[in-house]
Amino acid sequence: MHVPGEDLPKVHHYYREPHIYFGQKIVVVGAANSAVDVAMETWRKGAEVTMVIRDEHIRESVKYWIRPDIENRINEGSIKAYFNASVAAIRETEIDISTSEGIETIPNDFVLAMTGYLPDFDFLDAIGIARGTDSFQTPVHDPETMMTNVEGVYLAGVICGGLKTNKWFIENSRQHADLITSHMLQKG
Ligand SMILES: Cc1cc2nc3c(=O)[nH]c(=O)nc-3n(C[C@H](O)[C@H](O)[C@H](O)COP(=O)(O)OP(=O)(O)OC[C@H]3O[C@@H](n4cnc5c(N)ncnc54)[C@H](O)[C@@H]3O)c2cc1C
Repeated sequence: MHVPGEDLPKVHHYYREPHIYFGQKIVVVGAANSAVDVAMETWRKGAEVTMVIRDEHIRESVKYWIRPDIENRINEGSIKAYFNASVAAIRETEIDISTSEGIETIPNDFVLAMTGYLPDFDFLDAIGIARGTDSFQTPVHDPETMMTNVEGVYLAGVICGGLKTNKWFIENSRQHADLITSHMLQKG
């Protein structure tokens, strides 16, 4: 998020379990699947949850069977949500939220920044795997074999989408393994 206070111990970019947030005032940053899962699970386990969402609604990519639940929790007021908003600063006991009406400061114990993840491009660069010139910097690979521009080096899974980290997931990338093994067997 690159905001003051993001390095405080109360700010978590990884989520493990809800129970440590029981009775705590938490802010969940994000609007996609992880943020929604975290907001709902911590709320159900007794946290006071506020969501900070950059857009004007929950992300379209949120699983269709989960969306009605989070929208109903927000509409009924069980989970508070700031839309078209972002975190401006974080301090030990409070947080500043930048909204269309200005900065709002609320009491806060924890910040769960479910702000997504990026490919480890340094690792790909170190191997010599080139990146596409497209806006997602898609790592260069043959979609028929999954082999990269580096002979004998293959890609599989989420990394194949570059910055488009929701393009490939478990359900639609299993075939990568078949493509790789059949190409390796072919090459002998
Ligand atoms: C909360 C959550 C819920 C999800 N739910 C679903 C779902 O319901 N259905 C679905 O299809 N997908 C779901 N996904 C997405 C799914 O988890 C990912 O798409 C999938 O894990 C991608 O698999 P992968 O093997 O490409 O990458 P990963 O699972 O990320 O595995 C990459 C591995 O590489 C290791 N690694 C990284 N760098 C190095 C290095 N330099 N050296 C050695 N090892 C390294 C990492 O430690 C990791 O173990 C979910 C994801 C999250 C976070």
